[in-house]
Amino acid sequence: MTTLYVATTNPGKLRDFTAAAEAEGIAIQPLPGLKDIPAPAEDEPDFEGNARVKAVHYSRYLPGEIVLADDSGLEVDALGGEPGVRSARYAEDAGLVIYPGLSTDERNNLYLLAQLKDMPGERREARYRCVLAAAREGECLLTAEGTVEGEVLTVPRGGGGFGYDPLFYLCELGKTMAEIDLVTKHRLSHRGKALRALVARMRARQG
Ligand code: IMP
Repeated sequence: MTTLYVATTNPGKLRDFTAAAEAEGIAIQPLPGLKDIPAPAEDEPDFEGNARVKAVHYSRYLPGEIVLADDSGLEVDALGGEPGVRSARYAEDAGLVIYPGLSTDERNNLYLLAQLKDMPGERREARYRCVLAAAREGECLLTAEGTVEGEVLTVPRGGGGFGYDPLFYLCELGKTMAEIDLVTKHRLSHRGKALRALVARMRARQG
């Protein structure tokens, strides 16, 4: 079985990747020693740029192996695509420190709700976007992208997932991303789609 190494310390992302890759007959492992490797700056203007930077950087620490890195986030139409590439740091960028004791995800969700206060349902459309890059020994081999459309709720629902999942409503399922099982999530999520696209491209290249 092919093993791909993922450069992420986010347990939610790792869970999603593992579930999505398993269905493709691929094993996912976290990049060994990741927490001791200095992180590169994520200051590219788009997801693809950041995903490439991360994959190229981290692949230098595991010679001979394919290392994957993703950059992902939430794009809200009514906010001009924000938080986008700043999704992980949305509340922090705004200087939101008034909720001590809350996790980063909880702060981001509260800030998002505040930004969308009084926004009617039909203007709460959003999507998750994920760009995945595969690199080996400092060279980017491939990238692939996946998106999933939804709406931002006014109150969080569900205890699964991570990040903005309790607010991200999948209209066709009538559930939030935090209310669905991992198999369903990998089938329709931005990360699952990006992984399947990447694996298909890798297989096509190998003939
Ligand atoms: P990154 O590590 O810079 O790619 O940050 C991605 C951020 O986007 C996460 O910290 C979350 O806030 C958000 N995000 C991306 N994908 C998901 C997802 O599948 N569920 C929930 N939040 C997500």
